[in-house]
Amino acid sequence: MRKKIVAGNWKMNTLVREGVALASDINTELKNINLPDDVQVIIAPPFTHIAFAEQVIDGNKLYVAGQNCATENEGAYTGEVSAAMLKALGCSSVITGHSERRAYYHETSEILAKKTEQILKNDMMPIFCCGEKLEERKAEKHFDVVKNQISEALFHLGENDFSKIVIAYEPVWAIGTGVTASKEQAQEMHSYIRKITDEKYGKEISENLTILYGGSVKPANAKEIFSMPDVDGGLIGGAALKADSFIDIIKAIL
Ligand code: PEP
Repeated sequence: MRKKIVAGNWKMNTLVREGVALASDINTELKNINLPDDVQVIIAPPFTHIAFAEQVIDGNKLYVAGQNCATENEGAYTGEVSAAMLKALGCSSVITGHSERRAYYHETSEILAKKTEQILKNDMMPIFCCGEKLEERKAEKHFDVVKNQISEALFHLGENDFSKIVIAYEPVWAIGTGVTASKEQAQEMHSYIRKITDEKYGKEISENLTILYGGSVKPANAKEIFSMPDVDGGLIGGAALKADSFIDIIKAIL
């Protein structure tokens, strides 16, 4: 069954006390919601908050993700955090390929392939982000850009590993800008991602692939975007930093 996911990417926001309060508020409000088995709610706090956040949440309703991980498992890599370390803290997934990491930390497809392998090796779910820049969309290169991002970083995986991946389509021009892709633009790209996955891995895997939309999703537009047949939830930035708005977005997928 295709999972639906609402994931909150906190980025480099909140100090630990605020982050723990946010996790706790989301956890409390989630208790009043009857979440179907196919819906998963995830928060991705900064690394420094994860151990504390884990203590205030119910792991069977609310899951914790890392925002990034190292390409290596352990060793002399000052400042890095490995997938194994995140797993040991109780994380069930890790975000990779976010456009901010591609842009500011020069993460290439080769790097993202290694990170994805580390996440899978540690039995976690990679949430792989892809998406075109505005100039690429204007030049009508958006399908090629997304295809290259996905095929370069993921298509070397075997069927079993690929079936554990979640893809988040996040057009760069919509992230943190207040501009959301229209529901038609989101649907068109999601169905394209499903098509190329079908061509590579077949119908069963492509039909079960969870594809999230990310880019200025908020309570006011979530329902419309989530109503599209190939949109299986959202990766939420700014609106995930307030329990109320994050919860309203979760309600929009029910
Ligand atoms: C994101 O950074 O993944 C994101 C979607 O941000 P925002 O919702 O703030 O556009």
